[in-house]
Amino acid sequence: MTAQPLSNDGALVLFSGGQDSTACLAWALDRYARVETVGFDYGQRHAVELKARVKLRRRVAQKFPVWGERLGPDHRLNLRSFGALSESALTTDRAIEMTERGLPSTFVPGRNLVFLTYAAALADRRGLAALVGGMCETDYSGYPDCRRDTLDALQSALNLGMARDFRIETPLMWLTKAQTWGLAKALGGQTLVDLTVHDSHTCYTGDRTPHDWGHGCGVCPACDLRARGWREWNEAGAPSLEARP
Ligand code: ZN
Repeated sequence: MTAQPLSNDGALVLFSGGQDSTACLAWALDRYARVETVGFDYGQRHAVELKARVKLRRRVAQKFPVWGERLGPDHRLNLRSFGALSESALTTDRAIEMTERGLPSTFVPGRNLVFLTYAAALADRRGLAALVGGMCETDYSGYPDCRRDTLDALQSALNLGMARDFRIETPLMWLTKAQTWGLAKALGGQTLVDLTVHDSHTCYTGDRTPHDWGHGCGVCPACDLRARGWREWNEAGAPSLEARP
């Protein structure tokens, strides 16, 4: 764990149970005295993702007792009406493919805008100042609602509209997938890396076939990205993030 000064502001982590949000959870637990998590049920094809989050939270608290003391309640919000208006492959049985706009068919328009608006309303009620999400521009910039510019604009809108001083924090924004493994190692050592490999779920399908990089179908874009990041990180000697130039 890093020796960050602990912030008394609370944090709400957008926690899906994937590799990225697991790194975000550890990052927040390393910095904030009080951390809560939120997950969104928007009609994902696979409940496996929502199940993984419960197990991951429990395992993180068990393996890192100091973090366990900081980890507060989990919130699960029903956004099925939002999921229903999207024709995305994530929520229907369409194949995962690239669309004419150059976006994968897994793209749910404005998803992160909706998630963060709900998260901010929840954070307001819970007295939490930071909203932490795994949005990232580096490996894949096809999702316009993951871009930092978009999130800066949303942060301003939320703070104006809710008369608050929220910060949308995106620790993975400029990291590659390989560096995200390095961040996990820096925050929680091999224990957190192993826990992420075994218990997080990134695959777009519900497949839990084991691989060295984790569980998944091995062929969908999410598995492909995760496997490539794992390979790249291991080929570089599996460095902690600080060890990187
Ligand atoms: Zn997959």
